[in-house]
Amino acid sequence: MPNHAAAAPPSVETEAGLLDHLSWSGVTTYLQCPKKFNYRYLTDTPEERKSAALLFGGAFHRAAEVALQARLEGRPFPALAELLAEYDRAWQEESAEAAEIVFAKGDDAASLHGLAERMLSAFTQHLEAEVRAAPHRRILALEHEDRFRLLPDTPPVEARLDLLELDGADLIVSEIKTSKSRWNEQKVAEALPQLVVYAHALMPLLREVGAKRIRPRFVVVTKAKTPVVHVLEPQATQADVLRLREQVGEVWKGIRAGVFPARDGWWCTACPFRTACQGR
Ligand code: SF4
Repeated sequence: MPNHAAAAPPSVETEAGLLDHLSWSGVTTYLQCPKKFNYRYLTDTPEERKSAALLFGGAFHRAAEVALQARLEGRPFPALAELLAEYDRAWQEESAEAAEIVFAKGDDAASLHGLAERMLSAFTQHLEAEVRAAPHRRILALEHEDRFRLLPDTPPVEARLDLLELDGADLIVSEIKTSKSRWNEQKVAEALPQLVVYAHALMPLLREVGAKRIRPRFVVVTKAKTPVVHVLEPQATQADVLRLREQVGEVWKGIRAGVFPARDGWWCTACPFRTACQGR
């Protein structure tokens, strides 16, 4: 009798428990520095410091989500003060857990608070303009999580999608980013695999909601004196999909084989495991 039971996805036992999936940020962490991946995902090593830029990005996302939640529920957009209060809450919560916060030159908590205010104002204006331009567009989900198999011999990849919308036959998936400046072609190319991951994750949903195509996009809010919101809709090619599969396959092979070399680079300065890694 043939055995029709589906084989369990590949996994490895680690000090931090069973690793039975990969996240996109895990894949990019491994590609940047395998040793950092080991600290963060496999040995559960406590972080020595947190980058203020990461804290800022997380707190901005929380506040942006409050605005999007209002749209999802058909309420008017909240006042800027309400969004800023959410930013402050998120900043306090995350910074309270950090042993040390590393600020970029010229930044401190107060200057970042001012920046958050300007960026949230620009983001809300962008949302209002989108509602006027596409009144029938409907939010399906915020912070939607999904896992899918990219390759038969790797564990599922977990995708966490910021914003899912339906506009006629288009299923629009948006990733909200904060950035020092407008993205150039190289930056778009670097981030493209994330959209390829998302497009894969959404195929079943595409059929479920009766949409005909997936439109992945980046919504980039610049961290400037006068922030602007850029919407980018790059197209992934078959070569991008193959490259992504190759990368995920290589990362999983390295993890299974216990290959975690240190990879020095500019990123070491803000690495939360620098002391453990380099003894300084
Ligand atoms: S300090 Fe640098 S080499 Fe060491 S784990 Fe962090 S990123 Fe990797």
